[in-house]
Amino acid sequence: MSPRVALRFDERVPRDRHAPIDHAFRVWAASRHLAVTDAARADAVFTYGGDDAGALPASDGVTGRPTMQHGLPWYFGAGTRLDHLVEVHAWVAALSEHDAPVDPSGRIDRSSSMAATLGVDPCVAWAERHLDAFDRVALALHPQLDPVLSRKRSGVTVLGTHDLDFLPVKPGDTGVRLARNLAVAALTMRDPRLVASITGAASTRLLRRRPALGGVDAVMELERRHEVRSTWNVLVAQLHARDANYAFDDSTVRSTLDALAARGHEIGLHGSYTSAGRPGALAREMATLRAAGHDGRGVRQHWLRHAGAPLYQELSTARARYDSSFGWSDACGFRHGMARPFIPFDTTTNQPASVFEVPLVMMDVALSDMARRGVDPAVHAAAVLEEAGRHGGTVSVLWHDTTVSDTQIRRGVGPLYERLLARGDRWITSAEAVDAARPVWLAAGFALD
Ligand SMILES: [Zn+2]
Repeated sequence: MSPRVALRFDERVPRDRHAPIDHAFRVWAASRHLAVTDAARADAVFTYGGDDAGALPASDGVTGRPTMQHGLPWYFGAGTRLDHLVEVHAWVAALSEHDAPVDPSGRIDRSSSMAATLGVDPCVAWAERHLDAFDRVALALHPQLDPVLSRKRSGVTVLGTHDLDFLPVKPGDTGVRLARNLAVAALTMRDPRLVASITGAASTRLLRRRPALGGVDAVMELERRHEVRSTWNVLVAQLHARDANYAFDDSTVRSTLDALAARGHEIGLHGSYTSAGRPGALAREMATLRAAGHDGRGVRQHWLRHAGAPLYQELSTARARYDSSFGWSDACGFRHGMARPFIPFDTTTNQPASVFEVPLVMMDVALSDMARRGVDPAVHAAAVLEEAGRHGGTVSVLWHDTTVSDTQIRRGVGPLYERLLARGDRWITSAEAVDAARPVWLAAGFALD
């Protein structure tokens, strides 16, 4: 049985600070497979705040300027009392994103992220590093936790995911999509190299009598060869020009999903473009997916479109078990500083959320964007997975089935997916990762849907 830990507060710590710190403490405990209980039954009791030599240092959580000290970023300023719990809270609540401005597509602007606010590399899992530092604080106070806290976790579990933004359901769909990819490359991105590489790749495929665009079959075949099962997110509502080209009740769509499910892949919900702004919309979309016979346990928002924490309540109403929408489409990295499925903190209710967030740490189009800026996508992708592996992490990567044929984004980024599959990491579906995490997080005292 795992050791039980408890947290109590010095009476001078204001009431409104209990929930955030308690949440950070439980995130630490769950990440270490420690159960959280009350002080009377615990193997180790921590006291937050106060002057006692055995107390955890408590910053006031208000003052201070972001700074770098001891190799870690400090959102509340480090000062002399190194309060790792309040820093973990800042990350898992993404405090800097609360009420932040949105970009032209209605998403919270990346410039408001914790990493950007602190001026640190987003490809380092900073919350995980604060948790590691807290291990040392905890061990100094409770050496009996050593066997658990010193157990080295390493290696990364990768969750392959594919958002179904396009499916060829009518004759001519593939040609229209290809023309659109070329138009985006030429007019929106003004990238003549990309236009040339898309044209070249499509011509080669046609000459070899293969469809001009890769697709679900191509990815399924790759994953079959590597014995990997993944998560496929499908759009069930067509309400906005940016939603998918297909209708969910189209027979081609249904048979594609059935073929995926028959091979053990997970079918998740790709929340439609405007869903996050309409209360109850995600619940209705989830009901549609489930009525078609699919599990629908997780959600990723199309275009990663959401306004942050309010999404958690919509997900709870939709009885989703997890979300995986907090990543970026133009950069890689750990948006919440976490490299494993975790329970985020809802800044709109000042309470923990009741659904898991599965960190989306990289996607094909972001790597393509970075390749344009001179970054080697293969090296960068490997570095992100290495960082996750340092913490024994479990992270999600997104490759659209439409990119593996080099007919949408920078040459080589789509096919990089197969190189990741061949690295020898452990690959499971997102739902499997959340199912594995659930008992541990329940034991840490989280109330989960
Ligand atoms: Zn999408």
